[in-house]
Amino acid sequence: MLRWGLIGASRIASSYMIEAMRAQEGADVLSVLSTDVARGARFADENGIADSYTDLDALLADDRVNAVYISTTNEKHHAQALAAIAAGKNVLCEKPLAMSLADACEMVKAAADKGITFATNHHLRNAGTHLAIKDLISNGRIGDVLSARVFHAVNLPEHLRGWRINDASAGGGVIPDITVHDADTIRFHLDEDPVDVVAKSGTSGMGEGVEDSVMSVWSMPSGAMVQTHESFTHGFAGTGIEFHGTRGSIFAQGVMTQEPVGTIRLVDSNGETAVSYENHNLYKRSLGVFTQAVAGTGRPSADGVDGIKSLAVALAVREAARSGRQTTVDYGGF
Ligand code: NDP
Repeated sequence: MLRWGLIGASRIASSYMIEAMRAQEGADVLSVLSTDVARGARFADENGIADSYTDLDALLADDRVNAVYISTTNEKHHAQALAAIAAGKNVLCEKPLAMSLADACEMVKAAADKGITFATNHHLRNAGTHLAIKDLISNGRIGDVLSARVFHAVNLPEHLRGWRINDASAGGGVIPDITVHDADTIRFHLDEDPVDVVAKSGTSGMGEGVEDSVMSVWSMPSGAMVQTHESFTHGFAGTGIEFHGTRGSIFAQGVMTQEPVGTIRLVDSNGETAVSYENHNLYKRSLGVFTQAVAGTGRPSADGVDGIKSLAVALAVREAARSGRQTTVDYGGF
């Protein structure tokens, strides 16, 4: 039974995560941390949360709280996670785990040393669509995977055009925001980690001091090639993911999203088949798996090492775009 403290009065918490936490039997959301007294109090009031704090140590001192959800801006995740881990709380941390690989590794090692459950909130692994795609690939329905393509160029909604588009020090930019999700999703489907990447990034009308668009190509250990496109400025592109193998292809449209929607088609020598999937809430499933992991059954859908690796790929993409050179992905020994 998890009793949550929220670190960050964020939109993702109020729009998806609180509901997903409360959907787990016996779970409760006890408190929220904000840097602003009035915003924290308003957030608590609007979301039916009893306590709001501006002092992290005070939130962590509540012995009833046995799990925290960190959804502050990205530069704060590291210090807040280390404090929560030191206090013995289980941690669900937003992506990207940290601003640097070393910081992310420190967080995950600290959690392991303390023996608490640590997870990364990569929601796409929990989508019925992606679970169905993974089944097709792992059951050999498309044979050996030769290549994959990810289309994740969206129109960043007006209300999200804050630190994401103008504050590098808070972890803004489309690479830490979206490329991390694509890295995690590709790793999830292919069960292997990109070896090296080439990339180009730029601004296409929204980014102020941070990239708002990026394209990259990754080499996988199996020899498969992966092509990705992430952007904040594409109003009509739609999202999708494709896998092309020696025996067939999977075309999934509208699936790189927070909602349980999209279509999947399998095309092979028998023709074209529509693939069905379970359309459950992604975040509720993620919270269910996390709750079980804390109870000692299984592992989170994306754990700390998954968070390290998605960040590692994103950092390599950013470095490849900056340098114009093929960049080897450094996983920090993981
Ligand atoms: P928000 O911008 O909503 O919140 C981030 C911080 O901004 C909050 O902690 C809050 O600070 C501050 N803040 C919130 N509202 C205001 C306001 N009106 N004025 C000034 N400051 C404000 O961020 P998101 O919810 O979009 O993202 C938070 C984290 O979650 C990021 O790490 C992001 O990458 C991740 N994320 C993950 C998603 C997923 O599906 N896995 C989806 C969306 C985001 P304070 O707490 O001090 O009050």
